[in-house]
This record gives sequence, structure tokens and C-alpha cells, in this order.
Amino acid sequence: MTERIPVAGPWITDLEVEYAADAARNGWYSSASDYLTRFEAAVAAYVGTDFAVAVPHCTAALHLGLAAADIGPGDEVVVPDLTWIASAAPVTYVGATPVFADVDPETWCIGAESLQAVVTSRTRACIPVDLYGSMPDMDLLLATAERYELFVLEDAAEAIGSKFRGRQAGSFGHASALSFHGSKTVVTGEGGMLLTSDEHIHGRVMRLRDHGRSPGDRLFVNEEVAFKYRMSPVQAAIGLAQITRVAELVERKRLLFRWYTEEFVDTPGVTLNPQPEGLEPSFWMTTCIFDAELGVSTEDLIRFLDGAGIDSRPFFRPLSSLPAYDGDPQAILARRRNINAYRIGISGINLPSAGSLTRDQVHRVAEAVKHFIYGRHR
Ligand SMILES: *Cc1c(COP(=O)(O)O)cnc(C)c1O
Repeated sequence: MTERIPVAGPWITDLEVEYAADAARNGWYSSASDYLTRFEAAVAAYVGTDFAVAVPHCTAALHLGLAAADIGPGDEVVVPDLTWIASAAPVTYVGATPVFADVDPETWCIGAESLQAVVTSRTRACIPVDLYGSMPDMDLLLATAERYELFVLEDAAEAIGSKFRGRQAGSFGHASALSFHGSKTVVTGEGGMLLTSDEHIHGRVMRLRDHGRSPGDRLFVNEEVAFKYRMSPVQAAIGLAQITRVAELVERKRLLFRWYTEEFVDTPGVTLNPQPEGLEPSFWMTTCIFDAELGVSTEDLIRFLDGAGIDSRPFFRPLSSLPAYDGDPQAILARRRNINAYRIGISGINLPSAGSLTRDQVHRVAEAVKHFIYGRHR
């Protein structure tokens, strides 16, 4: 029986285990923040921001970013229709309205034009998402956002290691968010980070994430009612080991993508992750979309792969199509408007992209996909 191929998964070495064990033994009381401080400093240095704040998950980082910018009821926040719901849910947490913009087929991300198309007098912020490690043309997007004085919160959960014109994902906009969920490129189990170089945003985040206490407060004086969003030292210890190894983790993702590219060179109608000019993607997950002419049902394909011992996932469905937004007036508008999101989102799957994958396993996956999409017609 051949081994099952997982769709995602971390790459853990003795270093992570050593640091985690040390944090479990020693990371308490006055030493509790040692790993956190080192982890935050290492991520800030890698991405290139002045500040980094470790939080329990990326969802919390996005929530804090919006709260720190005073986004609230009556405000509209533009998010791409094609993303994980965590990009949009925090907009609802602060009482604002998510507006689902279409994506650009060249990048699978929100672009300057799709942003422009949905801006109104109530738009206060935009959350561009670096989908599967792709990125929008940040120069154009940020120029458009600036024209409308929008707060830009980059959701770089899937993109650590990607670069746009030489600059790291997570360094664009007023603030950004990373995820260290177990499925992501750099993992802490659950975990996230808010990054910014804006002193005011950083100050607000530091207070809002600790029940309204000022950093360093020892008298338990809460200055406002806020949130409790902190990461534990054991998670930070794993994260520090991972960020020390980030170059090889990202290189591994790129290698997997190159292997899949070799496998799919002669497969008409199959398109892998976009590689627009100016972008060096980190390919969090190698993803393929199928031309409509192939008539591929992604649900049937996922079931077929499952039967062959291969785990895969569907491309994110447009948020506006989900039951969570049934009856939402913005979702109704989005369903009519977002042609690209609806074309791309139903026509693709994520291929296995775990760090542990071998060349042979990638071949096995590609053969199974090809058998499914072409075999049936022969
Ligand atoms: C994983 C992910 C998140 C959320 O990350 P958590 O750490 O699970 O909260 C947010 N946005 C995108 C695009 C993601 O893929």
C-alpha cells in the first residue's frame, strides 16, 4: 500500500523540538518573553518592518489592525472575493461592512482596477490578500488606495518569502498580517503576527491586544475595554526555529512548484500559479486551474485523487457565494460583478504542497491529475 500524500504540512527539525522543550522548561515568569521578543525581532528583520507583534493567529492580527485604525460601524472595507474567510471576518468583528472586490486574472489578487470599481464615499480601508503566495501589483494598488486615503492592511498569511519588486510580502501598506497556522510555510501550530512601521498603529495594537493595558503596566490599570491576543512562549520558540530556517522553507516551496511545472508542461488547458512581472512568488500551495473546455468537475477530481491516496483541496470559493453571506447586500452585488473570481474560484484545486514531498510523489500526483482530466476522453 503506497503512503497517503498530505495536502499540506510543516517541515520540523530537531531545532524546533529543542527550542520548544527549552521554552516548556524555562519560558516562564521573567523569562516568558525571551522567545517572543527574539521571534518578533527575527520576523521584523526578515520582512523589513520596524515592528512585529506576535498574536494567537492571523485572524487576530487582522482584527487588531482594523481596530487600531479605528475602522468601525458605517465604514466599508474592501476585500477580494477570492480568499479564505479569515480575511473578511474581522471586518465584521469591528462592525464595518466587507465589500467583495473582483480579482485580477493575471495575479488572482485584488488589483488597482477592481479596487477602484468598488470604492464609495464610505470606503475606509482595503485588505489586499497575497493569494497562495501571489501578490497584486503593489505600486498600482497602493497608489489607488492613497488617492482615496484608504488604510491598507496587507493579508500576507500565505505569502511569507514572496517578493514584489524586491520587497518582501508583509511589508506593504500601513500594516500587515502573517499566519503561522500548521498549514502555512512557517508554522507555530496556531499563530500570527501583526507587522507595521507606523508608530501610532503599533502603539494602539500593543494596548488593544492586552486588555487595554499600556505596555509595561504592572499595576493592572486597564485604560479601555479591549482584547486578549497574545502568543505563548512555546509557540514563539517553534516560530523562532522556523524563521531561522525560512530561506530553506521558502526554497522548498519553490522547488515543489518547479517539479509540478515540469510535470504539467505538455498539458493544454491546465494553468499553474501566476507569475506576473515583478513578482517572485513563494508558492505556498501549488495550485492549478482548468480551462472550461476540459469540463473538469473539481469536486469529482478531488474525490478521484482521494481514492488514489492523494489529499487535495478546492480553490477558495468566492466569499460572496458562501452560506455565511446569504442575503448580504454586498454579496448579492458581488455575485453579479465578480466575473474573474467566479471563473477562477470554481475551476481549480490546490495540489499537495507539504515540505516533506518527494519528486516521486509529485510525479504520482501529476499522473493522477492527468489521468483524470485526459484519460476519460480516450
Ligand atoms: C490562513 C489564512 C488566514 C488566517 O490565519 P489564521 O492564523 O488561521 O488566523 C488569513 N488569511 C488568509 C489568506 C489565510 O490563508
